[in-house]
Amino acid sequence: MATVREQIVATGKESTLLDGPPATGMLCRFCGERADHVFVDLGMSPLCESYLTADQLNQMEPFYPLRVTVCPRCFLVQLPEYVSAESIFSEYAYFSSYSSSWVEHARVFTETIRKRLALSERSFVIELASNDGYLLQHFVQAGIPVLGVEPAANVAEAARARGVPTRCCFFGTDAARELVATDAQADLLIGNNVLAQVPDLNDFVAGMKIALRPTGVITMEFPHLMRLMEGNQFDTIYHEHFSYFSLLTTERIFAAHGLTLFDVEEIPTHGGSLRIYARHAEDHSRPVEPAVDRLRSREELAGLNRLEAYSVFEEQVKETKRRLLEFLINAKRGRKSIAGYGAPGKGNTLLNYCGIRTDLIDFTVDRNPYKHHKFLPGTHIPIYPPERIHETRPDYVLILPWNLKDEIIEQLSYIRDWGGKFVVPIPEVQVYE
Ligand SMILES: [Zn+2]
Repeated sequence: MATVREQIVATGKESTLLDGPPATGMLCRFCGERADHVFVDLGMSPLCESYLTADQLNQMEPFYPLRVTVCPRCFLVQLPEYVSAESIFSEYAYFSSYSSSWVEHARVFTETIRKRLALSERSFVIELASNDGYLLQHFVQAGIPVLGVEPAANVAEAARARGVPTRCCFFGTDAARELVATDAQADLLIGNNVLAQVPDLNDFVAGMKIALRPTGVITMEFPHLMRLMEGNQFDTIYHEHFSYFSLLTTERIFAAHGLTLFDVEEIPTHGGSLRIYARHAEDHSRPVEPAVDRLRSREELAGLNRLEAYSVFEEQVKETKRRLLEFLINAKRGRKSIAGYGAPGKGNTLLNYCGIRTDLIDFTVDRNPYKHHKFLPGTHIPIYPPERIHETRPDYVLILPWNLKDEIIEQLSYIRDWGGKFVVPIPEVQVYE
């Protein structure tokens, strides 16, 4: 069967989207060009981490446009900063340690990079957006000095409680200068899943240049735009993610700030991410690995250096919505009960865009106690502890964090005792018996 994407390409619908109305005043966050070509318009959505308490359900709730554009010069896919980063990230509900596969991913990375860079107790590791210390704790255990930088005070406090020194601030050139004055430049500067959340991209990358020792290495992980497009992962778009990166565009941004990407790996996290390795452009001790050229060629082959490739995405997203609704409506007509699993940000984009509320899903569950007995923003679906699945024996469990589906299907294998089935919505709705 042809994928949705192949069908769209075959029917030639891609040409229509470039003619849409231009967004007024959206200038590219990196290069300053007018970035008004629509990549996808997901309508109006609340902030995806704004979980509601019961007494907030009768109040007005702010919704913002989720309209993503692409820059015709540098191909940065981006959202305007509808809501300031300060108001989003100053108190944050996401604690990385609640995902066991995520903690394991971090542990494996820290071991590999320690060996690759020969890090010792004389080295210094800085992590930007260090969350609750889930990654840096592995360096601490190995006796390597670290510093976390985390803007959310509640999350930074959790990191300190587990012995990870953490500074609570937003990173940029000012913070970098201060940090170098009081602590040191980094031999290893890590930034995982933070680049997308930076409103002032140029100031952030310039700050990394300042905070890096002359022979230091930067590693960053972020969702790969090419995979987002191929895998139809529109639900990973939300107001908290201002930018979406290809290797091509990332190289341009780093080069503009005197940094060179010398290696890249494709990793499975978040539905397909890149892990990039960068160094000072002046540091020739590390040659550029062939992997960089290879991936750049593949992106060019996929057309990521031409505007046309970005225009097929929206129709693909609309078709996914229709198929998911079709499945849910048919299930409800057949008197089946449907519960959600997880309350991730991506679930909120999906549910709000598709208009899925308690008419289709009875409730969802999450392991994070911070979210228990709260309600999903916009859709007002209640969130319970995971035991609720066992108590209510739903016919279907819709897995919202589909990137963790293997882990979740294993944890919840007991639903098969009563004939329960798993449903994964992305890239296309699929049922697992
Ligand atoms: Zn641009």
